[in-house]
Amino acid sequence: MGKNLSLFKRIKIALGLVITTALLVIFTNVQSFAVLTNINLTKLPSYKSDIKVGNREQKTGNIGTSLSLIRRGSEGEVLNVLKSTENRDTISQTPSLPPQNTHPMPSTLAKWQDDTNSGDYFDEIKPTKYGYLIWSQFPVKVYLETLNTGFNSQSQKWINTVSQTVEEWNNYLPLQIVKNPELADIIILRKTPPLKFTPGKKLPRARSAETRYKVYTFDKTLYHRFTILLSPSQTGKYLLAASRHELGHALGIWGHSKDKNDALYFSQVRNPPMISTRDVNTLKKIYQQSTSLGWENKNDSET
Ligand SMILES: [Zn+2]
Repeated sequence: MGKNLSLFKRIKIALGLVITTALLVIFTNVQSFAVLTNINLTKLPSYKSDIKVGNREQKTGNIGTSLSLIRRGSEGEVLNVLKSTENRDTISQTPSLPPQNTHPMPSTLAKWQDDTNSGDYFDEIKPTKYGYLIWSQFPVKVYLETLNTGFNSQSQKWINTVSQTVEEWNNYLPLQIVKNPELADIIILRKTPPLKFTPGKKLPRARSAETRYKVYTFDKTLYHRFTILLSPSQTGKYLLAASRHELGHALGIWGHSKDKNDALYFSQVRNPPMISTRDVNTLKKIYQQSTSLGWENKNDSET
């Protein structure tokens, strides 16, 4: 009898969990910096996944991270072709989104003026179903994985390099490095992105970096959160370039430049560029757009 009761209890708990997790659906989208072992510019299928989590504190699902890791050789010599994985709108039964609106721009970006008329690549940035991926609460909080995981010279170098790119972007959007991942808007992990298997290809592709975001509702307000994976095999100027590039995505540049002098150029190059005038022009234009992120859904009858 006692046994039956405890089983019943367990079933109840399990049911409860399922119901809670069904309440909040979180959408994940991915941009990744791909390294192709053989260069192939044909259209690649997009990576998509939906994660269901119960509350906002829950960690990002480990999509594909159970796949074994591989080591790459002289990847610096390989042209990294970056595929755009704009996974548009994977969810069918989405609760109504807050109406899109603009947010005030942080003063650093508002002040920015390009006297050189360098132009931008704003046309390459497509809005998501939530609008543009714009931050509205500053500083944007960034967590670097190895801040908490002991120190050796490798991880110290990694932190220094990634911190440098945080500093670079901080000139345009206020960023702050935080020690608690729970408080972070952007989490940067020193971790190899999962291998990617392409139908019709025998060899999986290794990628040097991957950036994904998820969207969640908290207190009726729509928020987003980014996770960046930077492969430990990337070091030196390549790590610097990858970190700079992926941070650009996480700050809202969800697309790529066709100009190799821009940090958001779609592939990795031998002499990685700094954040360019065109990068900042594009960022500024994005922050003039509207978004559902950071806005409250006043009509949400679900809560
Ligand atoms: Zn990219």
